[in-house]
Amino acid sequence: MSFALHGLPVSRGIAIGYAHLVSHAALEVTHYVLPKHLVHEELARLDEALETTRKELAGLRDFRPQQAAAEFDAFLDLHLMILQDEHISTAARDMVAREQCNAEWALKTQMEALVAQFEAFEDAYLRERKTDVVQVVERILKTMSGQPGHTPPSAQHDLNLILVAHDVSPADLIQLKPHQFSAILTDLGGATSHTAIVARGLNTPCVVGLHHARELIKDNDMLIVDGEHGVVLVNPDKQLLAEYKLRHSQLELERQKLKRLKTAHATTMDGTHIELHANIEMPHDLVDVKENGATGIGLFRSEFLFLNRDTLPDEEEQFEAYRAVVEGMDGLPVTIRTFDLGADKQIKGAVRVASNPALGLRAIRLCLSEPLLFRTQLRALLRASTYGNLKILVPMLSGASEIMQTLQFIETVKHDLAAEGIAYNPKLPIGGMIEIPAAALALNVFVKKLDFLSIGTNDLIQYTLAIDRTDEEVAHLYDPLHPAVLHLLAHVISGANKAGVPVSVCGEMAGELAYTRLLLGLGLRQFSMNPAQLLATKQRVLTTSLPEILPLTLKLLRAEDPLKIQDMLLRLNA
Ligand code: PEP
Ligand code: MG
Repeated sequence: MSFALHGLPVSRGIAIGYAHLVSHAALEVTHYVLPKHLVHEELARLDEALETTRKELAGLRDFRPQQAAAEFDAFLDLHLMILQDEHISTAARDMVAREQCNAEWALKTQMEALVAQFEAFEDAYLRERKTDVVQVVERILKTMSGQPGHTPPSAQHDLNLILVAHDVSPADLIQLKPHQFSAILTDLGGATSHTAIVARGLNTPCVVGLHHARELIKDNDMLIVDGEHGVVLVNPDKQLLAEYKLRHSQLELERQKLKRLKTAHATTMDGTHIELHANIEMPHDLVDVKENGATGIGLFRSEFLFLNRDTLPDEEEQFEAYRAVVEGMDGLPVTIRTFDLGADKQIKGAVRVASNPALGLRAIRLCLSEPLLFRTQLRALLRASTYGNLKILVPMLSGASEIMQTLQFIETVKHDLAAEGIAYNPKLPIGGMIEIPAAALALNVFVKKLDFLSIGTNDLIQYTLAIDRTDEEVAHLYDPLHPAVLHLLAHVISGANKAGVPVSVCGEMAGELAYTRLLLGLGLRQFSMNPAQLLATKQRVLTTSLPEILPLTLKLLRAEDPLKIQDMLLRLNA
């Protein structure tokens, strides 16, 4: 059956491929108690699922990729072994018989117990095997839910897989990077959630907020994903397929053409130079930064170094990561943000559950409340500062007292390093993010105390409009063009420009072509964005004349009617 789904567009491009459903066993299993006379049937259901899964795994040998036959065999053997391990099969059977619970619940419970045992291993390789346990149990659960099991990505590599998930955390998504799914679809999430940001970094079409995609799409369904319009076509007819194949090749051609701009200077038609910097999450993103000709890193979200791991990175590990990025950029500016953990980026084992995490102990608030963690990071950053052009950026500052406390803290760390005879750049610039409306309104103290500013529009919009950026239910209200947002942006950019303090925008707005001219018109001269968006933005800069767009930008700023604002934006971009 053909049908279309609509969600929030996150990452441009068109992908045509086959659905690869990712389930989250732990989230989706319910618990119920069976009448005694049905326990026997439940055990039979479990046995049948175990046997079907075994056959399915054994059948995967036919998909064995030639170039990695040994690894693939090892993976299959391991999964078959886990499937037959008594901790899964026998223990789950025992639990169903003993507690009269449904088989899914028993499997999930055994999986969690086994994962906990694996987590306790000292050996990193063994610890990682917990992922295999989860994958095997998810496969059994899928069989029980009536969905045929899927072959792993490595087995179907040439089929262009499209990831379909109810939700993926930013941490999980970053682990998928090497797998190269040709598109990513999720039921949950807003367009500027961190999951969406990471997806954009993969340069892969992505649509989030699809609500029921994971329920409605089946494994191996053919999909067309239009990442620009947020549309997913499921099992399309031949004509649609042909149309989208054509659009896909046109887009590819455009992408190839843009590559010619890699070394061009980003200068407007009237000769104003614009800095186009890149946002990164991990040191290995430098490859994309270079490929897209960024003239600096405007935001290194250092908190990603802290995710997906059981222990936190120590000073040495952080120092090596920061040094690698700073040296890798060969003297170009590298702005590293102190860790913005909390809210939707939690370290493993974090137990505090705030009732409203986006307003809770996050970013600089967490740094200041965990002085040992903060000190470790600052020491690593200061040490790395002698290897190139490093700047420190502090997230989510709200006003004078946090600024003073942070600067004082940095001074103390510098003092300690000096006493130990360890070198650092004493003039290392310290900047602050403008992400909270209070910060934008209390700009004076920011321009007086800090060396540079970076506007985090993702959060600034979230906090100005009281819209949770990760919640697809209110995503339609998340509006970068709301007059309140535009006035705050105009106020910060002009205030910083007047004070002679460098200001950039590093939120997703900076890489949205629809807003490039608007931001230029507001006086912005420095943008930082996902590397994948950089060349298209450069092209927009090259075709913009500031004297031409200024009057219309001012008019747009005075408008109140959303339709008029939209209309003016279209004219600005014409
Ligand atoms: C922002 O809020 O705009 C920003 C760049 O920070 P993050 O997206 O990491 O919260
Ligand atoms: Mg932010």
